[in-house]
Amino acid sequence: MEVIYRSTRNSDETAKASEAILKGLAGEGGLFVPDHIPALDKSFDELSEMSYREVAYAVMKLMFTDFTEEELMYCINSAYDSKFDTEKIAPVVHKNGAFFLELFHGRTIAFKDMALSILPYLLTTSAKKNGVSNEIVILTATSGDTGKAALAGFADVPGTRIAVFYPKNGVSPIQEKQMVTERGKNTFVAGITGNFDDAQTGVKKMFQDTELAAYLSEKGFQFSSANSINIGRLVPQMVYYVYAYTRLIKDKVISSGDKINVVVPTGNFGNILAAYYASKMGLPVNKFICASNDNKVLFDFFTTGKYDRNREFILTTSPSMDILISSNLERLIYHIAGDDAEKNRQLMKDLSEKGCYEITDDMKEKLSCFYGNWSSEAEVASEIKKIYENEGYIIDTHTAVAANVYDKYVKETGDTTPSVIASTASPYKFTRSVMTAIDPAYEEKTDFLLVDELSKLSGVKIPDAIEDIRSAEVLHKTVCDKEDMEKVVKGFLGV
Ligand SMILES: *Cc1c(COP(=O)(O)O)cnc(C)c1O
Repeated sequence: MEVIYRSTRNSDETAKASEAILKGLAGEGGLFVPDHIPALDKSFDELSEMSYREVAYAVMKLMFTDFTEEELMYCINSAYDSKFDTEKIAPVVHKNGAFFLELFHGRTIAFKDMALSILPYLLTTSAKKNGVSNEIVILTATSGDTGKAALAGFADVPGTRIAVFYPKNGVSPIQEKQMVTERGKNTFVAGITGNFDDAQTGVKKMFQDTELAAYLSEKGFQFSSANSINIGRLVPQMVYYVYAYTRLIKDKVISSGDKINVVVPTGNFGNILAAYYASKMGLPVNKFICASNDNKVLFDFFTTGKYDRNREFILTTSPSMDILISSNLERLIYHIAGDDAEKNRQLMKDLSEKGCYEITDDMKEKLSCFYGNWSSEAEVASEIKKIYENEGYIIDTHTAVAANVYDKYVKETGDTTPSVIASTASPYKFTRSVMTAIDPAYEEKTDFLLVDELSKLSGVKIPDAIEDIRSAEVLHKTVCDKEDMEKVVKGFLGV
């Protein structure tokens, strides 16, 4: 049966997969959600004998039902190839009593690569299928990792351009350097004087501006989104949870049908929602453990049923989780409201007008498979140090939030279910925070000296993504006010 995508804010707005991928966002700020999630049609034992690409096909064909086998295989084979530094694509590593699912072996060494290496192919295939002749302009707000992963994915892809906005003082030095040295001829990068939520709000505003859309269409352009609100990013993220589960079967940690926990360091709620969707496909999950940093709006939500963004925005050492409006949570809200667009719309109206909303007790009951907790900066640092000292394994700050929350969960519940921790970035991406967590004396050293030290301590080869930017020239120097985002986009397009 074909999967139809519906807007979370208007049940009459529907799209096929390719149309939803092209649009990115539904009308009136809604997000596209699948009207049902088909069950896996292969057994876990069969899947455990498959490669990453084969598992990807088995999962994605169920969700992207209007793609032909040939189209989908083309997208998958183009994405998950030698751009990844391991044949396994997403290795599962057993450390410290948990299973770290390493999602950082792609081109920009963060988990965003898992989806953003396939999105350009899904998008250009969707454009072809739908007879779109406009050039696709990808508009992206980033808290650090999406930006570079999207730039790398879309760089010099014919028929596309990409503009990325990041909070000028809200990303790590290496994240910024990765973005501003991007060489793709169709790329544009700007820092904004504001935080991630400002960047995201500015981008959403441009998406919703129908006048602007008409004007750009006249000039031969149309916007699309590479943010995790695009269903073309969410679905590829379902794959690695299924893949991780089947690797645990292969390694005889579990038998087919056994439950696992998934632990996800969460910002925009895309990654953990993908795990939730995978469970709807039949993946046996006991708990979805949602880990937050100091910006613990999700922890508060899971404990009280009240989502409240009215609080101070805190800059942390896990910047990709410094988010107060977790966009993809809207999809979960819609589902626990019984796929009720009207009810969801009212809550989102409260969020935009009052900065908060509260769900009903009925809805809260449906969240019992989620567990939320958070980690302070000191806890993150001591987690990194502890795992390094016990295992010689160095994790990044985001993964450390998850590992620390997992420790708290086990202490609180005594649960011994095998647990997969989404390891979302290479420690090389957050070298300074990681190294000073291990020893504060590293504070004195320059960023690239720290890179060399990290390599010595961990025995892990310095990734190409880091070597490449050591000496790269800064090509993008624009910094603008959040009010001027539309103006600079028009400037980039020359209209
Ligand atoms: C984006 C990101 C996250 C948060 O993922 P969401 O899907 O936004 O919840 C966590 N860690 C890293 C390293 C990231 O880049």
